[in-house]
Parts: sequence; structure tokens; C-alpha cells
Amino acid sequence: ACFKKGIPFAYGGAVSARGMSALFIPGETPCLRCFIDHGETQGQTCDTIGVISPIVDIVASYQVVEAMKYLVGDKKALRNTLRTFDLWGHHQYDMEMTQAQEGCPTCQKKEYPALHASGDLITTLCGRETVPIQREHKIDLNEWSERLERVAEVKKTPFLLRVQLTEGEKFVTLPRWPGVNSRNRRYSRAKSLYSKYIGD
Ligand SMILES: [Zn+2]
Repeated sequence: ACFKKGIPFAYGGAVSARGMSALFIPGETPCLRCFIDHGETQGQTCDTIGVISPIVDIVASYQVVEAMKYLVGDKKALRNTLRTFDLWGHHQYDMEMTQAQEGCPTCQKKEYPALHASGDLITTLCGRETVPIQREHKIDLNEWSERLERVAEVKKTPFLLRVQLTEGEKFVTLPRWPGVNSRNRRYSRAKSLYSKYIGD
């Protein structure tokens, strides 16, 4: 949306002890999609593997300081990199934000696929309190069973995972069609549970 509206975006993300930050300026820098493929997820969210507060503080500080430089007009001081870092493993890596990915649908073709709901189909199954959420990425049941067992009660069959969440809702996760069973049938609730446990 920021690229469509031409509004700079101080991006930050954190999980575990790892973080990422960059200032994206429409028309001047590449976009986040140029660096991270759509749908790419390592399946790690703050709720499944946790996040430590120091990484959140540092990511937020990087976001704020780049935004301050932009707001006071000191463009020479902008870092102009997508910085990724791991506080636990002492790694830091800067990707120069000079070259946009050729044909990028967001910053080059200006199609903004993230603004269209494809790959994120939400409907309510008639007569059942289930809200299916369809995503483009495949779900590996063995891998997800291991991850979710740390935070919920998981029953695995060869075809699906049945996950009892502490919030009271149940997940049914199929390899290609993970669904969230929401007692109040509200899409937003199902979506927020999905991103909390599976990721965006
Ligand atoms: Zn791009």
C-alpha cells in the first residue's frame, strides 16, 4: 500500500533473536518484495518459537532512526540497506538497496499483488463453525506438528493436524488447506489466529 500511495515505509520485523529493518522509499529504493519472496515463510512466528525483547527494541530503534533521518531531510545519512541481524548468533548482514528485482510486481510493474486477496480466500463452511483460510504455501504436517506441539495440544493423522489452542479454538490443518475453527465465525479472528500460529 505504501508503494501504491508513494509513502515511505520504515519496515521492521523480529522473531526469536533475529530482526530485519529497512526504510523503503517509493520511487527511490526497491521494495520489500524485491528481497523477500511472496509467501516465503520459515513458519516461525513469535507464538511458536518466541521473541526476546532486546531484538524488538533494536529493530524498533533502527526503524525510528531511519524515519528521523528521512523526516529531517538528511538523506545522505540514510543507511539504504535491508539489515538482517541475529543477536544470539552475532550475525549481521546488509543488503544494498540499489537494484530492484527485474519485473518486481510491486515496485516495477506497479501491480501491487499484496493488495489483492488472491491466495487468501476466506469463506465460512455452511453449518460448521469453520473458517478455511487458503494460502499459497504448502504445509508440511510433520514439521508443523513438531512446532505446534510446543504451544498447543496436537493430534496428527496421515492427512491432517488437529490442534487445540489455549484460546479455545481448534485448528484443522491440511497440507494444502489449513483452516481455523473459530467459535464465533469471525473472519478477522480466524485470520489473526492463522498469522499467530502459522505466520503471514
Ligand atoms: Zn520491488
